[in-house]
Amino acid sequence: MRLCFASNNKHKLEEIRSVVGGKIDLISLADIKCYEELPETRNTLEGNSLQKAEYVLDHFHVPCFADDTGLEVEALNGAPGVYSARYAGEHRNSDDNIALLLQNLRNDTNRKAQFRTVITLVGLEKEPVYFEGVIRGEIITEKRGTSGFGYDPVFVPEGHTRTFAEMSMDEKNQLSHRAIAVRKLAKYLKSRTA
Ligand code: IMP
Repeated sequence: MRLCFASNNKHKLEEIRSVVGGKIDLISLADIKCYEELPETRNTLEGNSLQKAEYVLDHFHVPCFADDTGLEVEALNGAPGVYSARYAGEHRNSDDNIALLLQNLRNDTNRKAQFRTVITLVGLEKEPVYFEGVIRGEIITEKRGTSGFGYDPVFVPEGHTRTFAEMSMDEKNQLSHRAIAVRKLAKYLKSRTA
């Protein structure tokens, strides 16, 4: 089965390839010569991942899936959520996003948060199929650790004492929201190709 992953992130593509196994011919946007920026203008993770996947299906006629991830903080009513990448503004970086997050939480004792990934698959069934991965945890008050990316230095997953940024890439990749969603997708694809 030929399936496109609608993302330009090579690292994610390799990670997903290793999980979904050999029966799926997982191809990239470059493989289908899709070089344009995919639209991502909705205000939910489900909406954005659906929009990206449908764009590729409509324009390139290949079954496809896309992902979208956000950090959802309970005391901030789910923010930054779908706006996680640009929480501190359009051209700001992860340090700015973390600084704003810690600032907004400075008076809060409720530090509960979760990372949530939604993968949306289109073109195989009549309707889109959604796969969700959630990892709960808490936001600490200062950054710790140097690996990973995004909000990793301030997120400690439930049942652990180290932040994602203090874990090895392998350890995080076993635990993470994205890994949970990808494993659900892989299970679904395997059952379909069995
Ligand atoms: P994307 O949908 O995977 O591009 O993620 C959107 C944004 O969420 C990223 O720019 C990061 O700010 C944040 N994010 C997503 N996944 C992670 C993660 O595993 N660790 C830390 N931050 C993440």
